[in-house]
Amino acid sequence: MSETGQLKKLLSTPKNVAILTHRNPDGDAIGSSLAVKLLLEQMHHRCRVILPSDFPVVFEFLPGIKDAMIYDNDPEACCKTLEWAEIIFFLDFNGLDRVEKMALTIADSKAYKVLIDHHLDPEPFADYYLTDTGASSTCELVYRFVRSLGYQNYLSLEIADCLFTGIITDTGSFKYGTNPEVYRMAADLKEIGVDDYALQDAIFNSWTERQLNILGHALRNRLEVLPEWKTGIIRLTKGDYLKYQISRGDTEGVVNYILMIKGIELAAFIREMPLGEIRLSLRSKGDISVQEIASKHFNGGGHKNASGGTSDLDLQGTIERFKQILPLYIKQQL
Ligand code: 5GP
Ligand code: MN
Repeated sequence: MSETGQLKKLLSTPKNVAILTHRNPDGDAIGSSLAVKLLLEQMHHRCRVILPSDFPVVFEFLPGIKDAMIYDNDPEACCKTLEWAEIIFFLDFNGLDRVEKMALTIADSKAYKVLIDHHLDPEPFADYYLTDTGASSTCELVYRFVRSLGYQNYLSLEIADCLFTGIITDTGSFKYGTNPEVYRMAADLKEIGVDDYALQDAIFNSWTERQLNILGHALRNRLEVLPEWKTGIIRLTKGDYLKYQISRGDTEGVVNYILMIKGIELAAFIREMPLGEIRLSLRSKGDISVQEIASKHFNGGGHKNASGGTSDLDLQGTIERFKQILPLYIKQQL
């Protein structure tokens, strides 16, 4: 029997299903997880969504999110749920390093494992793979999954809202990583009844004054432009985090502003978190692969034009290291 046939057979009777996504879940991680949960619940499966860390408040309007289990708040309950599961879905990530200690429980689990994701280089830990780095988002792949298994009749407006959320957050409202299929899918979801303006408004026009001030500070005082390397860097110090009481969601999207400068093709947002960890968000245009930069030099990964990682050096050291490697990826402009 084909893998799809095997999975369809498994899903033909009610099962215990755990749905897991990555730490610091974004709109695509959350949207795809909730969409799979709502879909499978309509098919009478028992489903639990597990998030390694809490979700940004901006997504609290999404259906079912309040029932999600959060590993940071209750690690034991999350591991028990993984043990309880007969099927585990892994959505929007492809390496167990992104779910930390749950990786041990997963390695011991006999559950049938389904991985749906659009990042590069999936690890071999699942039984069923739907991966495509050409997909705009995991939500696009969940929609493909629904159609290839013949579950279209279960698509509700709630599910459509979740899927649309993942598309617009991962593509920056249809700017990055698009393809013909994602536009067709958006049309289908709108036909189901998605109020796309209301979703865009709820997600992107939800800043607080404080968040705008943080962005203002980052752009006015912490931006360094290296035109000869077509590169811009924004740094935030631990002091900035304390002074502006910055929490994780507050800096979402800051990195993208750097690419608004004409001629800039590589953007780095490098921050010293309050506990001292150095995190990087990298974005690029065209052929520059930030996935390669993140995976080779900063213990991370992601997509060709959008990746993240961490550094063992301090903030200054990380920025120097980043500048040192630029010649490997960009030809100096004279
Ligand atoms: P962001 O910069 O917004 O945190 O992440 C950009 C992209 O890189 C996302 O697709 C995210 O999943 C991926 N990413 C961020 N941090 C890491 C990391 O530490 N490891 C890996 N493998 N991917 C990451
Ligand atoms: Mn994604």
